[in-house]
Amino acid sequence: MRRRLREPIPEIFVAAELLQNAVDHHLSGDRAAAAAFFRAANIKAVWEWTDSVWGKHRPDIHTLFKIEGAPPYLPPEARVKSRMPNAAEEQRLIEHWGYRCAFCGIPLVHTRVRKRAVKAYPDAVSWGNQNILQHAAFMALWMQFDHILPHARGGDNSFENIVVTCAACNFGRMNYTLEEMGLEDPRRRPVERTDWNGLEHFK
Ligand SMILES: [Zn+2]
Repeated sequence: MRRRLREPIPEIFVAAELLQNAVDHHLSGDRAAAAAFFRAANIKAVWEWTDSVWGKHRPDIHTLFKIEGAPPYLPPEARVKSRMPNAAEEQRLIEHWGYRCAFCGIPLVHTRVRKRAVKAYPDAVSWGNQNILQHAAFMALWMQFDHILPHARGGDNSFENIVVTCAACNFGRMNYTLEEMGLEDPRRRPVERTDWNGLEHFK
């Protein structure tokens, strides 16, 4: 059993610090410095790390086990209607899990904060529908609400079934169960607290 699909690389934490610097300069009114730090956080190695976990199948990352009696894939009409938690449910999950991936432990940024950054610094923070257009730091730190029992396998939106994760850990597991990917259940570990606040003070 393992805790995560892939060990985070140190550059991810460097990128988070650079984002923090960008926000500090933005709040002090130095837009040029803020833009420079946002650009510096767009680290190629970070982009490649995320892409390796949520991208093409890699036997060393996407190890699969055949589990006897695993929950079957449900046809769309048999799945729980509401796919994602609402804003209040998200807030409760963040209060419990913090701004940190429950699997790999990297710091996280909520989509609403990334949107503010893209809007305020469109030349420094790129975002688009294709991965290649996405700013490496915001892509890696992209907060997700991940169903432990996947929605396609009958998972619901209950507080107990959702954990806060990074995008790589969420999309990289696809619709497989923890057992099928040989992952430990993060709900059985104590939540680790950090000072990272998800850059929520960026306004
Ligand atoms: Zn993660």
